[in-house]
Amino acid sequence: MTSLYQRPLPQLDDQNRFFWVAGEEGVLRILRCGSCGFWIHPPQPVCTRCLSRDVAPQPVSGLGTVHSYTINIQPWGPGLEVPYLIGSVELDEQKELLVTTNIIGVDVNEVKIGMRVKVEFQKDEDVWFPFFRPIASHN
Ligand SMILES: [Zn+2]
Repeated sequence: MTSLYQRPLPQLDDQNRFFWVAGEEGVLRILRCGSCGFWIHPPQPVCTRCLSRDVAPQPVSGLGTVHSYTINIQPWGPGLEVPYLIGSVELDEQKELLVTTNIIGVDVNEVKIGMRVKVEFQKDEDVWFPFFRPIASHN
């Protein structure tokens, strides 16, 4: 008997759609203020630093660092493999620019704060989930 876990899909709207479909082109996009250059996530219509409404999605490197993580051991649905990692990834573009996502490709006992990671998209229906996978670091 095989049942694949159906991951809950995000509600797409005019404000966040760009984020969830960016993976179609293989590039992570984050909202950026055109007035002061501040990166904004999660998406919102006004810059959190200068209150400008001149905000638009811009491509980012897709590189970041594990800022914090949680090990989930609860099988929320049939077919969900546990344990898995939910992490907060700080993108290279800006301090405290955090994306909450799954961290994949690493044993839950080996993940570390500060680990270097890179985005990797997984498509589910109309959504490209930006997951992060560890990459080799130079330290
Ligand atoms: Zn701004």
